Amino acid sequence: MKRCYKCGQRAVVYLRQHRIAFCKEHYIEWYLKRLKETIKEFRMFDKEDKVLVAVSGGKDSLALWDALNRLGYKVDGLYIDLGIGEYSQKSKRVCQDFAKERSLRLNIVDLKREIGDIPTIKEVEKRPACSFCGQLKRYYMNSFAKKESYKAVATGHNLDDESATLLSNVLSWNMGYLSRQFPVLLEGDGFVRKVKPLFKFTEKENALYAFLSGINFVEEECPFAEGASSIEYKKILSSIEEKSPGTKLRFYMDFLRKLHPLLTQEKLQIKPCKLCQEPTTAEICSLCRLRERVRSKTLSSLSNS
Ligand code: SF4
Ligand code: ZN
Ligand code: ZN
Repeated sequence: MKRCYKCGQRAVVYLRQHRIAFCKEHYIEWYLKRLKETIKEFRMFDKEDKVLVAVSGGKDSLALWDALNRLGYKVDGLYIDLGIGEYSQKSKRVCQDFAKERSLRLNIVDLKREIGDIPTIKEVEKRPACSFCGQLKRYYMNSFAKKESYKAVATGHNLDDESATLLSNVLSWNMGYLSRQFPVLLEGDGFVRKVKPLFKFTEKENALYAFLSGINFVEEECPFAEGASSIEYKKILSSIEEKSPGTKLRFYMDFLRKLHPLLTQEKLQIKPCKLCQEPTTAEICSLCRLRERVRSKTLSSLSNS
């Protein structure tokens, strides 16, 4: 039986990559301290800043919202209702309950009202939902945060997400993506600051924090998630991690320390979209063009029926 490294009580968790065991209380303490230090180290935001946490109802984003609130940061939530049947209904309810229990403010953007729900757009576009869903979420996070004057948007990306993205970018030597892969993307050119405070925590560590803190989260995956290439990369990294604990963290942290400073960011010609004013490299942003395709397809199917 492992004992808590802090108090000697029976441990509930052993973190192989850090070689430490904790009881419930000291695990939560360790998690909060590590999160606070990460935010400071990467100068993500301060206690006076108004921060918007993008929540999906899953363990990572709710763990993040809960932990930031406990640490005393000014945090509101943003839930983007993707309209993916029961999955979206359940995750929305979980986020609303979470906010209500803690007297926090939850903002909701309804994609159906803005442009169309994900299944409808998928029908129009005839391509995998994830290929446009991520872009839509980023667009509404940015426009909402800007409109409501938030200092930063925080997302629940964890070490498994970030190391899988890094592996994928390295395998294709995508230098543009590699140069933009960083836990903080500063504001400018119409973009608000974007931060990933959980990037040093694994999916399991976030799940454990959520579980030990009594957070009710949605365990189901989005029905469109299946087959995403990131899942394959996560599996590969997890099997290496199994044999050599600490690999994921080392892989990602060494990238940030050793390679990222050598990469130069290509300066893109960003300007406001002529229709919606959101930043883009074209005259009309890709979201406005997508909105137009969805609108004309819906109108033509209505006139044919
Ligand atoms: Fe969107 Fe794909 Fe994530 Fe589902 S799995 S929420 S479709 S990005
Ligand atoms: Zn303890
Ligand atoms: Zn636009």
